[in-house]
Amino acid sequence: MSLTEFAVIEKYFKRQHRQRDGVIVGIGDDAALLDIPPNYHLAVSADSLVAGVHFLEDWAPQDIGYRALAVNLSDMAAMAAVPKWMTLTLSLPQIDEDWLALFMQGFFKLADQHEVCLIGGDLTRGPLVIGVQIMGLVQPGKAIYRNKAKVGDLIYVTGELGAAGFALEHLKTQQSISAQDEAVLMQRLLRPTPRINPAQVIRGLVNAGIDISDGLAADLNHICIASQAGATVHIAALPICPVLKKYLSADQIYQLALTAGDDYELCFTVEKHRQDLVEDLLTKMDCPFAQVGIIEQDPALRFLRDDGTVYQLKKAGYQHFDGGNTDES
Ligand code: ADP
Ligand code: MG
Repeated sequence: MSLTEFAVIEKYFKRQHRQRDGVIVGIGDDAALLDIPPNYHLAVSADSLVAGVHFLEDWAPQDIGYRALAVNLSDMAAMAAVPKWMTLTLSLPQIDEDWLALFMQGFFKLADQHEVCLIGGDLTRGPLVIGVQIMGLVQPGKAIYRNKAKVGDLIYVTGELGAAGFALEHLKTQQSISAQDEAVLMQRLLRPTPRINPAQVIRGLVNAGIDISDGLAADLNHICIASQAGATVHIAALPICPVLKKYLSADQIYQLALTAGDDYELCFTVEKHRQDLVEDLLTKMDCPFAQVGIIEQDPALRFLRDDGTVYQLKKAGYQHFDGGNTDES
């Protein structure tokens, strides 16, 4: 049961047969060595997931592993970088081999899909915390930035919004939901699809972009602030997971779609004359998308209903369900 730290590294992290391009030294020495091809920039991003904060300890270990990498890959997608290498920093209360084997199974499943190589990390005893650092390549001038949105740009989002947020609420409230619908929601929460390939295809055609980790309102606001612009979003155009419509009021749905995080879809802005081209490319690669608004000169975000009236976003921290408790923190 109690393997040494070294034995754990050998057994669960080292997979020499899967070494990828550019790894001169991988796991096993004091640091990894990477061969960065000439004429590429290295894109680097890190995210930590703390048990009880970013995930629950009783989730299936495969899902925790998958999600830990997915949220990091989503950052590579947002920059239009091709993910290549990663490190994994694990703080574990104890070595539970059953848990670790399943965790790594989920983690490597997604890593293999995107041909990302684990090149190092750290293992310590402590509260359950998972840290992933991801590194990718992007050619100079090809990355997607937050600060390049222009007035008049159309605002797009990929996929559907709100399902992961509803799944989280459902875990708290245990509202009655059919098993089939629950499975759809949990899949969205636990196994988000990082939009790596769509980002590669549209990167030269979009002005600005970000991944939606904190809700569309917050993340689009990052684009607006960085680009010194504002935006109007038409709430009827928001792409909503059909499951939400079965259980929630329109207001609850809009709140979730705009303020719940964890969808890990992309939000990007496109000049009008490129609209058809971008839409064709996304359609060809089966990436769902919706045009939800427009970038404007006036700072801040505005949300409009179909009839042109303003939709007021409730404060962050609002409880989405009628449990009587609206006092979140
Ligand atoms: P050091 O004591 O020199 O920091 P470690 O004993 O922490 O080395 O790690 C030995 C090797 O195993 C290093 O190459 C390190 O990157 C790798 N490693 C440690 N933990 C992990 C992990 N969780 N995932 C992948 N590689 C790891
Ligand atoms: Mg070390």
